[in-house]
Amino acid sequence: MLAGIAAALLLAAAPRPAFVAVVDPGHGGDQEGALSPSGEKEKDLALEIARRVAARLRAVGGKVVLTRTGDIAVPLANRAAVANALRADLFVSVHLNSMPTAEARRHSAGVETYFLSPDATDASATAVAARENADRLAGEPELDPADPVAAILQDLEDQDALAGSSRLAYAIHDQLVGGLGAEDRGVKQAPFYVLAGARMPAVLLEVGFISHEGEAARLRAPEYQERIAAAIAEGIAAWRNAARRASR
Ligand SMILES: [Zn+2]
Repeated sequence: MLAGIAAALLLAAAPRPAFVAVVDPGHGGDQEGALSPSGEKEKDLALEIARRVAARLRAVGGKVVLTRTGDIAVPLANRAAVANALRADLFVSVHLNSMPTAEARRHSAGVETYFLSPDATDASATAVAARENADRLAGEPELDPADPVAAILQDLEDQDALAGSSRLAYAIHDQLVGGLGAEDRGVKQAPFYVLAGARMPAVLLEVGFISHEGEAARLRAPEYQERIAAAIAEGIAAWRNAARRASR
């Protein structure tokens, strides 16, 4: 009885989080993602960076849930579903970019930020979405085998979430490019399955090229990972501030 009352009081006293974020480390388990020239795996660096992002967001009062905290495979559709179930304010998927040819691997470095669209911005965005969507093709049944894009289009009917995703993407991208001094490869749109089910502003970050030798070396350094996490947290703060100003 007393324990029950104490629990109720604790619940009543628990402060409401300033915001709820779901941070999604790309890939995991047998889905390794891209590889660096020396063999580092995207799934491992994405998890390290995502953990640092979560810590930064918790430090400013956010409730943060990671879609995975270990090296396990999580179906792409389940990742946004976690955010929907929590009625999260935002969904951020963390990835590292890669180029397919030796020549392109030598030259391509920098930051790209994505939000959802049925049509990709350009051929390069199409390639990135195809690579990131490969996890689904390997492990998950299609929602609608006749037209997998239909599900995305249906979700795009939620135009509020799309506009919110665009604003969130630009806010984080600005901070990443400024904070890292990395090449600005732009904010782009593409049909990412991991974003398709999200009912809130949702973005996919390619925080650097793991396929580029020099950038891969930076990406595995804890100090650089902290700078990435700080930039993402700053971007989210800027996005929240802008939303607050707009609602006044
Ligand atoms: Zn990835």
